[in-house]
Parts: sequence; C-alpha cells; structure tokens
Amino acid sequence: MRIGIDIDNCISNFDDVLLEEYLKHDKELRNTGIINGKPYHITVGMFDWSKEENDDFYYNNIQRIAMSLKPLNNAKDVIDKLKADGNEIYIITSRDNGEYINPEKMTREWLEKYEIYFDKLILTGRHEKGPVCKENNIDIMIEDSIKNCEDIEDNGVKCYIMDTRYNKHETRFERVKRWNEIYSKIARS
Ligand SMILES: [Mg+2]
Repeated sequence: MRIGIDIDNCISNFDDVLLEEYLKHDKELRNTGIINGKPYHITVGMFDWSKEENDDFYYNNIQRIAMSLKPLNNAKDVIDKLKADGNEIYIITSRDNGEYINPEKMTREWLEKYEIYFDKLILTGRHEKGPVCKENNIDIMIEDSIKNCEDIEDNGVKCYIMDTRYNKHETRFERVKRWNEIYSKIARS
C-alpha cells in the first residue's frame, strides 16, 4: 500500500509545543492565562489576545517553533515497520502555506534529524491535499485536519483522522489515537 502521512499533529507534537509557547508568551503579555479551555484551536479564543497580538506572535515565531518540534511516540518506529512490511511512505504536508521560509529544506532537515523514513515528500499549500492524494494514488492518508479529511475522502482516498483536541467531535472518519494503533489497523486492512 501507499500510505500518505501528514506531519504536524500526526508525526510531530505541533500543538503541544504551540501551547507551551502560547502559555509562555501569555505571561509576557497580560498574564491572563487560558480564558477558554475548549476553544476551536489554541490560536482562536484560548487566550484573551487580540487578532493582531495572535498573528504577530504566530507569524514571527512559527518557523522557530516548527524547527523545535519532536516526533510523537512511536511515529518513527511504526513508519519503519510499515516500510519493512512493503508499504510506500509518502509524507504530505501543507507547510507550503506561506508561513515558512524555505519550508521544503526546513522539513527535509527535520525528517533527517529524527530519521523519519519517506519515499516521497510532497509540500502543498493550505487545503490542497485531496487532489494531491488522488494524483499520487494514496491508499490511506493519516491526517488531523477535518477540512483536509473531507477533501481527501471526497477525492476517493481513505483517511484516518488523528485524534486532537479540535477534531474530537468528528465522527465521519476512522479515528486513530496512537501510532501503534495505526500500525495494527493498517496491518489488518
Ligand atoms: Mg496536521
């Protein structure tokens, strides 16, 4: 099988690090803390920041934050096992979304640093993954964004949704919580 895998919040601990960074910066701003524990996303309504404050912090720090991410538990080992079982690994990330300087170089270096195996790395813009998965004959895509999952399944590609705080209510896609669970699901399919 050809398996497509998103990076942020699928291979990487993006939201864990983003939350730490937001908590730290909130202290420097007004030290109000979390005002909404169940927001849509950390960047939308979790803190009392104005849109300008949010955008200023996010866009000035996201490159540094992305470079500091770590792989989630077992992500590397399971990807290695999937490869050893004869699957192809296509890493498909929408980091070519204008938020990063040279996103491909940054991403390749990060994957190399953590020895994450891939046959192909594809960078897309925001919400373009559906047609990309179809064109590349992906059999199963692992993704955390609801919008991307919709787009991917609309293009006829099976999508596993990686459990995160902002997609918990979503029931249309097969949910996966841990990399070991991903391995057993794919091995059985
Ligand atoms: Mg993601």
